[in-house]
Amino acid sequence: MAKSPITPQVESYLKLNHKLFTHKKLAEEIGCCLETVRRALVRLDLEVIYGAKYQRRAAPLKWSRPCITCGCVKKRPKMQFKCAACHDRERDADKHQPCRREVTVTLPRLEQNYVQSEN
Ligand SMILES: [Zn+2]
Repeated sequence: MAKSPITPQVESYLKLNHKLFTHKKLAEEIGCCLETVRRALVRLDLEVIYGAKYQRRAAPLKWSRPCITCGCVKKRPKMQFKCAACHDRERDADKHQPCRREVTVTLPRLEQNYVQSEN
């Protein structure tokens, strides 16, 4: 794969000059294609370019489905069934009530008469 033409030097160049020249002019200056300039500008948060191919990531989907614990309908990430408050409450509850595991250790016992006979 070819090395990216957007070196740190080019990045600083873009930061200083992206408002002064057109993207086409910038591309000519750098010696790369227009698309590369646009992608770099989006990546460096210098410019917002609308268009699916320049989007870095889609906004996370949210829903306002009632929380299964308290019924709160505040928006939260999709597929999260409980609100943040309930999540925290449950996490804290877990912390205060660590699962109690009954551990019974049975040690072998010496027979009473065995001990007596030895003495
Ligand atoms: Zn809740």
